[in-house]
Amino acid sequence: MKVIIDNGHGVDTHGKRSPKWADGSQLFEWEFNRDIAKRLAKALKSKGVESVLIVPEQTDVELSERVRRVNEIYRRNPGSFLVSIHANAGGGTGWEVFTSVGETRSDDIAECFVKSAEKLLPWMNIRKDMTDGDGDKEAQFYVLKHTHCPAVLTENLFMDTVEDCRFIMSEKGRQVITDLHVEAILMAINKGYA
Ligand SMILES: [Zn+2]
Repeated sequence: MKVIIDNGHGVDTHGKRSPKWADGSQLFEWEFNRDIAKRLAKALKSKGVESVLIVPEQTDVELSERVRRVNEIYRRNPGSFLVSIHANAGGGTGWEVFTSVGETRSDDIAECFVKSAEKLLPWMNIRKDMTDGDGDKEAQFYVLKHTHCPAVLTENLFMDTVEDCRFIMSEKGRQVITDLHVEAILMAINKGYA
């Protein structure tokens, strides 16, 4: 099996960035997602787990093409699952995971992510939402709905909330977010969900 890693958005995606903070710093979601994806792939390799980055490009690759790539890899590597990495927006705080609807293996894998998030982000609000009723999120959920493999999508803190954004801009924060994904994936594999 392979862990299929999707990093949402591209350098050319409108919006999908933090406000410019008082010190002039700003987070761009495409950069954050790709950085975590690369760190994750490297960390998994060191643990002997194969992964594949489905969007090596810096530009935004349309959702239908990303889904095509995922389904092609899954066809050739049964037991694989998808992890799509994002940063949240909309003025909240905390960490959350979404799953494809009605796919029980996705829920099992998401549960591993929730456990890992509760352990590594103990001061944060951790949420799991299995519905796809939120209109704002429909576009992101496309990768969950149309991929054939189990799939989870992580929203790694809110880039438009200053404390959350500071954390995911920091080296320590990025390491914690990477570790959270690694631990969750190893847990899912050990429990036989992949
Ligand atoms: Zn996103």
